[in-house]
Amino acid sequence: MIILTPEQLSEIEDAATAAYPKESCGLLIGQQHSKNSQTVTRVAVSPNKTENDTRDSFEIDPQLRFDIMRELKDTSEDIVGHFHSHPNGPAHPSARDLEQAWEPALIWVITSIKDGTVGETAAFRYDEKERQFSNFEIEIAVGH
Ligand SMILES: [Zn+2]
Repeated sequence: MIILTPEQLSEIEDAATAAYPKESCGLLIGQQHSKNSQTVTRVAVSPNKTENDTRDSFEIDPQLRFDIMRELKDTSEDIVGHFHSHPNGPAHPSARDLEQAWEPALIWVITSIKDGTVGETAAFRYDEKERQFSNFEIEIAVGH
């Protein structure tokens, strides 16, 4: 499972609201305990750099990723996941997500936002062998 604080979930939801009707996106930084367990310590909101339609696709700023990776070098933290929103779509990977499978090794967090109001946020992991996404548990925990 991926563990977020309520404040981090709010940051992800606020990014979805701010970007609406475009997709928001960003990186999740934290501790990678194992393949199945991550604790998020920081949410980094990114501009959506996609050259496709920003209403149904996203690309995290490569410069942001580069800067964060440099910052995290020799620390115990890592990029553990990324997030994006689905304006007027479900909190589930889209056909385009499957096509692009951006950073498949990371945990995918997707927030549904309808008519500017945030809905469900869910997490997924891409299985390269199965070529599909499976649900990944999110836990919201205070103070870590
Ligand atoms: Zn998507």
